Amino acid sequence: MTVVAIDGPAGAGKSTVARRLAAALGYRHLDTGAMYRGVALAALERGVAPGQAVSVERLAADIDLVIEGDRILIDGRDVSERVREPDVTRAVSAYSAVPGVRAVLVQRQRALAAQRDVVMEGRDIGTAVVPDAAIKIFLTASIRERALRRLADQDTDDAAALAELEASIAARDEADAARAASPFVRAPDAIVVDSTGRNVDEVVAEVLSLISAQGRP
Ligand code: C5P
Repeated sequence: MTVVAIDGPAGAGKSTVARRLAAALGYRHLDTGAMYRGVALAALERGVAPGQAVSVERLAADIDLVIEGDRILIDGRDVSERVREPDVTRAVSAYSAVPGVRAVLVQRQRALAAQRDVVMEGRDIGTAVVPDAAIKIFLTASIRERALRRLADQDTDDAAALAELEASIAARDEADAARAASPFVRAPDAIVVDSTGRNVDEVVAEVLSLISAQGRP
């Protein structure tokens, strides 16, 4: 099976680009960030703190986590919107740093990659989940642009809100890069694609041409 790995920092447009690439290639799209968000939500709801590593790992293994396209279900409940809310976004890095949580989710991600060709997006796909992926893209954009895109999603142009978004995006990138268990780092063999100042069509076209230049998939 072929894996296209898309890694990159928070808010770089990975989901939009990965979804479009998957449609163009006829592959499955797997948003691994949604899986970590699902575990964080389940833990928050049950009052399990990230420091309770054994309980969090057990929770990650026991919940029924289903990813269907853009939907995420936990024990049959659709939490697709809920996992994008600020409390989950603030907490997710602490839960994703728990080695046992990563072990459980990485195993599921590899099992899914073995079933079907996939465009898999996350933070550690090219470094840890599928180090032999057919192509590895590191999708990035300036912090200002990433914050501005998030602000546009929120339908406001408030300067204070922009500064707050920049700070929270930077804090999440730093926490993800600082963790001991498969930290967020660019794979040495990943191709950097910077989406600053470019629209989705241009970025998708660039990645598709990189893929075909490699003669794969
Ligand atoms: O991609 P998204 O911003 O939704 O990811 C949410 C969080 O999940 C990240 O900030 C990171 O803590 C975690 N994550 C991870 N490894 C991945 C994907 C996401 O640790 N492969």
